[in-house]
Amino acid sequence: MRFPRQLGDFVIEESPSDGRGIFATKRYAPGTLLFHIEGIRIRASDQRLTHRAIQYGRALFIEPRRFSLGHYLNHSCAPSAHVDGSDLFARTNILPGDEITADYSLFTSHPTWDMECACGQANCRGLIIPYERLPAEIQRRDRRWTSRYLIRKPDA
Ligand SMILES: [Zn+2]
Repeated sequence: MRFPRQLGDFVIEESPSDGRGIFATKRYAPGTLLFHIEGIRIRASDQRLTHRAIQYGRALFIEPRRFSLGHYLNHSCAPSAHVDGSDLFARTNILPGDEITADYSLFTSHPTWDMECACGQANCRGLIIPYERLPAEIQRRDRRWTSRYLIRKPDA
């Protein structure tokens, strides 16, 4: 597989943060659907689960299809996009050349999971942690960008 590589309206190429990443070739306004994450839907116990899996339910993950867009989604502590279920939406105004990143903590609740962050943003939290371990203040602030399955109803 050669890089850079065009995938729909995006380009996969080297990212300043981590390996390869997804880069926009068009403008997107906040809230715009960017793409669906394609792959196999598996449970947390499935041996096919890798660090690239996108969590979309309490024990449910999508393992992105190899070389599909979801396979290259990097984390950032100042992300341009957010994941809801198996969809990716623009979180900020995105311009051509911007990397498409998401805050993994806003769609991951796997209790034992964490990883060091190398996003290089001024507000970098240093460690990417599951949603439940985020400070309540960040959970409140980022609620609108949090994957639906993590947000409980007030009486639940
Ligand atoms: Zn970071």
